[in-house]
Amino acid sequence: MMSVETLDKLAERAEEIISYDPATGEEVGRVPIASAEEVALAVKRARQAQVVWSLESYRERARFIMRARQIALDELEEIATLISRETGKPVAEAISMELVPTLDLMQFFARRTHHLLRPEKINIGQYGLMGRASHIIYKPLGVVGIISPWNFPWAIPLGEVVMSLMAGNSVVLKPSELTPLTGLKIGDVFKRAGLSEGLLQVVSGDGRTGAVLVEAGVDKIMFTGSVQTGKRVAQSAAKTLTPVVLELGGKDPMIVLEDADIETAASAALWGAFCNSGQACASVERCYVHEKVAQAFIESLVEKTRALKQNIGTSEDADLGAMSSERQLRTVEEHVHDAISRGARVLAGGRRSSSLKGSFYEPTILADVDHTMIVMREETFGPVLPVMTFKTEDEAVRLANDSVFGLTASVWTKSVRRGKRIAERIEAGTVMVNEVLYTHGIAQTPWGGMKQSGLGRTHGRLGLLELVAPQHIHVNRIARLRDLWWFGYSPGAGRLFRGLARRFATGNPLQTSLLLPQMLRRLVKKQDSRKDERDEARTMNDNQ
Ligand code: NDP
Repeated sequence: MMSVETLDKLAERAEEIISYDPATGEEVGRVPIASAEEVALAVKRARQAQVVWSLESYRERARFIMRARQIALDELEEIATLISRETGKPVAEAISMELVPTLDLMQFFARRTHHLLRPEKINIGQYGLMGRASHIIYKPLGVVGIISPWNFPWAIPLGEVVMSLMAGNSVVLKPSELTPLTGLKIGDVFKRAGLSEGLLQVVSGDGRTGAVLVEAGVDKIMFTGSVQTGKRVAQSAAKTLTPVVLELGGKDPMIVLEDADIETAASAALWGAFCNSGQACASVERCYVHEKVAQAFIESLVEKTRALKQNIGTSEDADLGAMSSERQLRTVEEHVHDAISRGARVLAGGRRSSSLKGSFYEPTILADVDHTMIVMREETFGPVLPVMTFKTEDEAVRLANDSVFGLTASVWTKSVRRGKRIAERIEAGTVMVNEVLYTHGIAQTPWGGMKQSGLGRTHGRLGLLELVAPQHIHVNRIARLRDLWWFGYSPGAGRLFRGLARRFATGNPLQTSLLLPQMLRRLVKKQDSRKDERDEARTMNDNQ
């Protein structure tokens, strides 16, 4: 149920959101803001529609996903241009980082969900020898509420929509107020794929609409956004114990060891830090490079940074587009300003673009940084890469782990074995060896953070399991026999229980077999006493 306070707040607000292109300031479009009543109605409709949907086979559900996929593919250019206009990112990047991975994810979950969620037998050890069997089935949750950010307005919500639907749920999606048209486009694609309307509803609005959705009685909230909002969502969901997955911010480190391929590592740092203008949760936000190779690495990085082309996203040759909002650009300015005031050196960029009018910030490399600076501690979420040096592997690991965040990290070395060893010491949900940032695009692998980067997972089997209720079914195939541990306690039973503690609980059937005579005696005695009870009852009946 929504609180009265939330309803009052909704009543006060404006009725539409205007989406602007951050590169040009032009209006992209307007959408109405869903009222609290509309959100409640959407959840109600979703609940009704889900009942029938949950009875559909995986094959039937997959048909809708694949039809929606075909529509998205047919309209790839239009969708990518819309994403670019709402976010500022290059069209090419909208295709490579949003369309390609989701088209892949759609076919993957359409084809594989039946396999990933197949009922599973559980080996229950010696209980199995006693005629018992257990298995797990995965049931849909009901209605899933998805609240998504503006930085990947197509890829993030769409992946969760597809997985939720394939798992048999219905969805109410609240996109970011900065990218409402991309959110509505997702709904439109599925509608034209023939999905019944209640199964996927998009409620446009701002943070207050998101807050209403959290309290609207959904069965799960999939939230992606900042740590600050994530904590608020968790608090609010706790009132009804609504489960939440929180995909939050990051301050992802990249460690370049002395034996890394320096040119490749520099190119990776460049893309990892500056794609999407640094507005990816898994952007490289801190770079630690071994002091022996630091000079060569930094020189290469600076040269490559200066060669990047910045322009409006619809221009074919733009490497970097505009930042998605002035608010985000101001955060970047504050972080860079703080770093400079504490002694950091700007090796490239360090200011908003003087030649482009919109929200453009130049790709920036900072040196002489340390962990007292905001730019090394808080999420910058912009095109800024601070670089620090280290002397030893232990120092690099310590610096990487010195953060409240733990989303992704990367280690660069020619020795894969060394890379994997270091990866295991780093506190992050994903650690890549000789790779950077992109694994959100792999449908098969789990995505999620440690520490304040979040709770739970999206993508892969672990992500799918967040969208179902596991149910354990346990069967006793020898229904006629009572259990050894039921009532009828006696000194003999006590001796058997002590024997069970010493032998059965070792997990070794040979040890348990030594108790067989005692066990049989108790079973026979119990059968006898059951027979005695029946005889007694019969006699009483006869006497009446
Ligand atoms: P926000 O936390 O500001 O917003 C995220 C979503 O929550 C938006 O739809 C927003 O609506 C909505 N919202 C705002 N207030 C509330 C509320 N009280 N209750 C419920 N919903 C609310 O994040 P941003 O959109 O600014 O996204 C950037 C952040 O997202 C960064 O920190 C980034 O690291 C993180 N992120 C994490 C990812 C991950 O996988 N771990 C992936 C991508 C981004 P509105 O926009 O309308 O205000």
